[in-house]
Amino acid sequence: MRFVADALNLTPPAAKRLEERNILRSAFIKHPFFPDIVEALKLEKKFGEFEEGTLIVKTNHGLEIVRGYPKIRRALTLYPTLKRHFKGDVVIEEKMNGYNVRIVLFGNNLYAITRRGFICPYTTEKARELINESFFSDNPSLMLCCEAVGMESPYVMKDVYDVKGLDFFVFDVRDRRTNIPLPVEKKIKLSEEYDFKIAPVLKKCSVEKAHIECRNVIEELGEGGREGVVIKDPEMVTSPVKYTASQSNTSDLSYAFRYFNDYGKDFMLSRIVREAFQSFEFGESVEELEKRCERLGRAILKSMVESIENVANGRKVTEKHRLRFRSEGVMYLFMQQIRKMGVEVIFHEPKFEKGYHVLEFERVLVSTTDKIRHHLEGNLW
Ligand code: ATP
Ligand code: MG
Repeated sequence: MRFVADALNLTPPAAKRLEERNILRSAFIKHPFFPDIVEALKLEKKFGEFEEGTLIVKTNHGLEIVRGYPKIRRALTLYPTLKRHFKGDVVIEEKMNGYNVRIVLFGNNLYAITRRGFICPYTTEKARELINESFFSDNPSLMLCCEAVGMESPYVMKDVYDVKGLDFFVFDVRDRRTNIPLPVEKKIKLSEEYDFKIAPVLKKCSVEKAHIECRNVIEELGEGGREGVVIKDPEMVTSPVKYTASQSNTSDLSYAFRYFNDYGKDFMLSRIVREAFQSFEFGESVEELEKRCERLGRAILKSMVESIENVANGRKVTEKHRLRFRSEGVMYLFMQQIRKMGVEVIFHEPKFEKGYHVLEFERVLVSTTDKIRHHLEGNLW
């Protein structure tokens, strides 16, 4: 606790408030794989200027803070929202669909931190394998904000990107202590210099044309199963805005309704509302609207019926993952970490294949499974 107050530079009353609000949680499991860390805590909620997911670490060398990745607000209509929010020019980047990872260097080793502030053993092993560390020797105060995408993902699996297993795509480079981002050009330059992959920069244009340019790219992205766009101020002073393709909204819905009792109603409603605003703004023809309705209906119903069928056949509602680890120790550490995160999982017997320890596991959607069973047994809602 004491080191947290010191690291965050809190006055004694503020430190007390932090303790009372009970928003600090352990962020890692002590292990030789994390040799530089003595203690690590994360913020479960925003506290003052510090975002949720902010990590406070006592290393062998001192105190470190890694700020949480800020929320990105969403446009429901492209026009006039973009025009009202930005001035001058904007950059349109692809919004990739994976999980948010901040990569930093402590001591001599890289560490990969999830959105909520956990130091993830699996992601850390991948980062040490794939990310050119010399970037951090040259820029020790910076962090790489990346989307980790691919099928070998413990969190969000997508097969629409051309990656083997899992890979990192940098979308922001920020000061890890102040959270101040570098301008987009600077990010691109550094990424070229150190050979990082980046989330594709699709267009640069004046804000007057931004809604048209977004409209032009969004349909193509959607058809390719890609998520959408993030619109940014080239200087990264004005906060970015996100906008997603219909196919991505509906694929989220299909996912959420498959696990309907484990997902918040807000998650579902917001995605349906997005579809309505997009349909309105795009001035669709009768046929196009029909198609959208079909897509939405299918997304909501089909996966839910599948879940009911599963439970009716005596199975649980689960999500299957397959990960590969170089080190057996890291694999067991990851298994411990998942349990610590409070996720219900069934681990299958690990296998050794072509130099990798292969771990298959199923996340059990307990609440959805129980709810379905309850009703199939004849209970009332
Ligand atoms: P948020 O609180 O940021 O809205 P969320 O969990 O609801 O978070 P998303 O709807 O996926 O997240 O949108 C924001 C996320 O998009 C970022 O946290 C980041 O992980 C991801 N992302 C993918 N590509 C980009 C990009 N080019 N620029 C910024 N963020 C991106
Ligand atoms: Mg996302």
